[in-house]
Amino acid sequence: MANALEGTVALVTGASSGIGAATARSLATHGAAVAVVARRKDRLDALVSELESGGGRALAVESDITEREQAITTVERTVEALGRLDILVNNAGVMLLGTAADAPIEEWERMVALNVTGLLYVAHAALPHLRSAADDGPRRVADLINVSSVAGRRATAGSAVYNATKFAVNAFTEALRQEITAQHVRVSVVEPGAVVTELTDHLRPEVRDQLRSAFDFERLRADDIADAIAYIVTRDRRVAVNELLIRPTEQAR
Ligand code: NDP
Repeated sequence: MANALEGTVALVTGASSGIGAATARSLATHGAAVAVVARRKDRLDALVSELESGGGRALAVESDITEREQAITTVERTVEALGRLDILVNNAGVMLLGTAADAPIEEWERMVALNVTGLLYVAHAALPHLRSAADDGPRRVADLINVSSVAGRRATAGSAVYNATKFAVNAFTEALRQEITAQHVRVSVVEPGAVVTELTDHLRPEVRDQLRSAFDFERLRADDIADAIAYIVTRDRRVAVNELLIRPTEQAR
């Protein structure tokens, strides 16, 4: 499977750290040219240098995808610079936990703006290109992968609005899948359990302390989720992996 993605172009949002950066590396290993998207340009530039020094093609796109014009331009710049778009990994997200009654409303706005609205902006801009890739691309199939969460399947106290955003991602994924799967655009959702990344750095300190005691087990690594995404996109054209739920072994709920 080393060259399964040769000739394809992938766009990964939230690629300046964590799961997105690991996914960009993994897709490049399989032969894809990769556009890496986030706000921290220095991180993206370093990742592009790394991918290029490994013989790959990559493009850094500094973008705040919660801004509609920036989201659209991100897709346009990718297609202009790399020539096409076969794979979209909608990964950028933020998790601001805490009980609803105590939450600053700005945290809710940030989660909805990125996890839902930003994801939709990028998906909408990408869909025409994914449909073209399915028609005439090297694999004659295209992939749109949304990174949701265990929180997209199971609501829990202290996670109400994060749950709401990830349930929205799951609902959008399934409806869109039904609409375009016959055109060979595969639409998948990946639902990680706890992964060691920067995601919890943005929590209020009191919430972070509570979470630390709840996650008293060995968590997944970003590469574990990148492997799952690579598995989905390297399947034969006839195989669509619709949904993958991946927890650390010791995570019961
Ligand atoms: P990170 O915080 O490491 O990554 C989040 C990424 O999103 C960063 O690259 C960040 O880059 C980017 N981002 C944030 N805001 C914006 C924005 N406005 N525009 C563009 N990019 C943005 O966390 P993870 O890797 O863990 O998170 C990736 C996904 O995985 C998220 O959707 C998260 O909900 C999901 N997930 C994570 C789990 C975990 O335990 N870690 C569990 C379940 C799901 P920058 O700041 O440079 O813009």
